Formats: sequence, C-alpha cells, structure tokens
Amino acid sequence: MVDRKIISFYSNEELISHIKSGLPTLFHSSQTSTVIPFENIQGLLNDETILGNLSTIKGRLEFTSNKDLLISGFVTWKEAKEFCRSHGREIMTSPTEELAGVLAGIATSCTGERSFGFQNLRSQIVELQYVDYQGNEKKLSANKKLELAIDLTTYQNDFAPYMNFKNAPYPRLLVETDLMTGTEGQLGVITSAVLKTISYEEETYLFILLPKWEDNFEPHLEIFHAVQAFRKEIRACEFIDSNSLSYLPPEKNPGKNQDVIFLEVRKSDFEAIYENLLSKLTLINEENIFEMASGKCRDLRVSVPRAIFEVNGRMGVSKKGTDVQVTAQMFRELLSFYRSYTHLGVGYNLFGHFGDAHLHFNFMPTPDKNDFCNQELERLYRKVLEWNGSPFAEHGIGLLKKKFIAPFFTEHQKIVFRDLKKEFDPKGQFFPEGFMSC
Ligand SMILES: Cc1cc2nc3c(=O)[nH]c(=O)nc-3n(C[C@H](O)[C@H](O)[C@H](O)COP(=O)(O)OP(=O)(O)OC[C@H]3O[C@@H](n4cnc5c(N)ncnc54)[C@H](O)[C@@H]3O)c2cc1C
Repeated sequence: MVDRKIISFYSNEELISHIKSGLPTLFHSSQTSTVIPFENIQGLLNDETILGNLSTIKGRLEFTSNKDLLISGFVTWKEAKEFCRSHGREIMTSPTEELAGVLAGIATSCTGERSFGFQNLRSQIVELQYVDYQGNEKKLSANKKLELAIDLTTYQNDFAPYMNFKNAPYPRLLVETDLMTGTEGQLGVITSAVLKTISYEEETYLFILLPKWEDNFEPHLEIFHAVQAFRKEIRACEFIDSNSLSYLPPEKNPGKNQDVIFLEVRKSDFEAIYENLLSKLTLINEENIFEMASGKCRDLRVSVPRAIFEVNGRMGVSKKGTDVQVTAQMFRELLSFYRSYTHLGVGYNLFGHFGDAHLHFNFMPTPDKNDFCNQELERLYRKVLEWNGSPFAEHGIGLLKKKFIAPFFTEHQKIVFRDLKKEFDPKGQFFPEGFMSC
C-alpha cells in the first residue's frame, strides 16, 4: 500500500512554487468527480503522483464592468449562484452537484440541466487564466482562435459531427479557452475565469407524470420532440424514472410508481408553455401535469443521485453508470437499448437531461455482477460509436472511463494529445494518468 503524498495549497504562490518543482500531481478541488474514485485511487494512479488540493485556496467573486462573473480560487457552483442572485444576475450552468468547484467544472467541461436552454459551459466562458508548467500565469480568451505549433485541421474535421453535443469524446480545441476546457487538468491549472451571466428572472417547474419507460416510452418521446421548438422558453427538460424516485422517502416522491419529466421555465412563460406545448400533447392527460416551486424541485433533483450514491456505498460497489448523449434521430435507439438492460436481472435506474437526449442509466450491481455489467457497458459503447454519439457528455473520462473511451480515439486525436502534452506539459507533471495517455 503506497503512502500517497497529499498537499493542500493556501495561495496561488504556494501552487506556483509546487508547479515549478515539476512533481507529478493530480490537482483536485471538491472531489465530486464520478470518474476519479478519490476514496479508492490506489492502483489507478502512479505511486509517485501527488494529490494537490486546490479547494483550500480562498475564493473570490466579483462582477466585471460587463456584468460577467469573475471567479478566482475555490468557489462552488452554489456560492457562485447565490452571489449572482444577490446581485439580480444568474449563471447559466447548473450542475446537479452544487458543491463542486466552478474552475474544476471548466476542467471537466461540466454541464447540467440548464444546457437545454443555455447550451454548454464552454459557450459561457469569456476568458480564463491558468498556471503553465513554468509557473507562469497565462490568459486565454474565448474570442481568439487557438493557434498551436501543431496542425489541428484533421482533428477539427473529426470534431465537426459533435459540434452540437454538450461534450464530444475529446475536447473541442477551437478557441484559446478550449485548451483548459474538458482537458481535465492535463495541460495546466486554472486559477480564474470569467463567465457570462444574465439577468435573474424567477423560475418555476412544470412536472409531468408518465408511465414507466420500461413499459411504454411513447409519451416520453412525444415530449422530447415537442420541447425542441421551445429552447428559448424552456431552460431545462429533465427526466427521473420511477426506479430513481423509489430511493426517496414517500413524502418526497411526486409519482406513484411513475416516471417524471420536469421543465424549468421562467414564471412569466408559464402560461404560454402550458397553452402552446403541454395542452397540445396527445399522450399525456392534463391531470398528470402540475407545478412545483423551485426550492422543492431542487431538493428532489439533488436527493436522487445522492440517495443512489449512498445505496451503492452501503453495498460496497461503485455505480456502473452511463453518460451517453445521442442525436435526436438516435434517441429512440438509445431508449430501446437501455430497455434491453432491464431484463438482465441487475437492479437499475435511469435519469438525466432528457431534452438533450442525454441520459444516465445506472446499473446497481451486487459485487458478483460487476464484471458482467462492465461487459454490458462495452456493448453499449460499441453502439454509441456506431451511432456517432458522445459516450461521456458530462462527467468526463478521469480514470474510470479510460478503457471505454480508447476506441473513440483515432491516431489523429492521439497524435494531437501527444503533441499537446509535449508543448504544455514537457515534464509530465499534470495528471499524467489522464485520458491523453490512452
Ligand atoms: C451527485 C452528483 C451529481 C453530479 N452532477 C453533475 C452534473 O450535473 N454535471 C456535471 O458536469 N457533473 C456532475 N457531477 C460530476 C462532478 O460534480 C463534476 O465532474 C465536477 O466538475 C467536479 O468538480 P470537483 O470540484 O468535485 O472536481 P474534482 O472531482 O476535485 O476534480 C475533477 C477534475 O478536474 C480537475 N481540476 C480540478 N480543479 C482544477 C483546476 N483548477 N485546474 C485544472 N484542473 C482542475 C482535476 O484534475 C480532475 O481531473 C456530479 C457528481 C455527483 C457526485
């Protein structure tokens, strides 16, 4: 058993001095990553790799003259959201785990429910700063094209079919800020960022109760197709199945052995959405539609993944979850594929970002079914490759998804990763075990 070194940084100066030492380090913040098992990392990281804690660096929030939000140091999504709201503004990204760090969110290209209405975090970054391998703080702008010594033409051509996905199987590498977005800390450490904000407008949630998707997902698909024309009015279109809801205490469960889809809309758009969208659905009875206040909805939304996490912890297994996004045309295929998983004799649940055709299917295996579930996941990823879908659209690759992402990389991507590492990490000090080493 290796006694791994852990260092906490309390200032950028301490961080810079450590980076100058060139020691291999996995920098982290809140450790909420579902693809890096921080609790059980032995054997997945090289013995000499240090864990570098950034969550001890004091955070700061302020608005720029353009009302963009400047974040430096360790700030959680919850803090950023509360700060903005107290100034009548809003950030547009809303990951379910609000205790995760905002700068880490850039490193993982994190998304969340609001991507439906506001696209991904990548499109909300104005600029950012990072510390490079020499300990210099460098600025990157979203307005400037990424110019590198390497030719990115083929890489960009490969990326093109994924342009409308929340995240592709590999980072975008189109503008300067992409260098740190979704590269999971393998090219430097982000120290500050400027994110676009919008004026705060009160929101409300419309809940729709549905039959279990395993029995009949036609009503679900009717909603999926209907909401696509309302991306300006609907900020989020989320799904939680009856199995996920069953982990909640009965008083928190809005359904009776039913699935739910809920929509986040501005209060001022409520009537219009009801009239122009919900009342026109042919497979949903109006008595199955109701409104829920934002606080209650938030509580429900966060409780589900946390409850699942706890159940797995008690069983001593790690969740075998998917993070697949497909095109609207392939969404029926994805749901049908997930339905085939429900006959395998392994517990499961399904939830996620329905409007974006991005769902998390989770096997809840007993320890003896772990390998079996992994084989089943490999079967899914072969299909996702065939469908030109994105296998990990939100939670990143980290350590746990490396073996599954490898078939999505061709020689083009591998050459670009090698060249990027040579240019930005010549000493191999930034998360050397990350996906760029696939
Ligand atoms: C219940 C639950 C719900 C979740 N919901 C969502 C969701 O809706 N959307 C979503 O996208 N994710 C979600 N996640 C996953 C996770 O919260 C995100 O991946 C998040 O961005 C990780 O942030 P963190 O602060 O915990 O980072 P960590 O887990 O500490 O680190 C994650 C990665 O970021 C890198 N990193 C961290 N800080 C920096 C930095 N300053 N510079 C460079 N690299 C850095 C690390 O090296 C590592 O590779 C969820 C997780 C849980 C447990």
